Amino acid sequence: MSETIFHKIKRREIPSEIVYEDDHVFAFRDIAPQAPVHVLFVPKQDFATLNDVPFDSPEIVGRLATAAAAYAKKEGFAERGYRIVMNCNEDAGQTVFQIHLHVLAGAPLGHFGA
Ligand code: AMP
Repeated sequence: MSETIFHKIKRREIPSEIVYEDDHVFAFRDIAPQAPVHVLFVPKQDFATLNDVPFDSPEIVGRLATAAAAYAKKEGFAERGYRIVMNCNEDAGQTVFQIHLHVLAGAPLGHFGA
């Protein structure tokens, strides 16, 4: 897949607030937050969209979700709640073609859809 802005964030080549990192995942604040907390969790292994993740590698996406839950507990919003979202391709509005999980929290969130 092609280079994205998230690769530059991972390499600390452009400014970003990285809030979480482990061997498999890194996470940083979204530049255009849609909620008081809006963090993106990205695997260190590259996939452009969810469609590109091999069926027998569910840990790629699973690690994003468990890292998000660990972060929610650490930051104290796990009990109040949060939303995780992954956009895939055009109809979902994906704009950065490197898979990432949005974590939204910090206020009651409206429901969404078409
Ligand atoms: P998506 O539309 O699901 O592909 O989400 C891409 C997200 O990346 C959007 O919410 C953008 O606001 C966010 N974004 C784009 N550029 C940056 C950046 N330099 N730093 C942090 N977040 C970014």
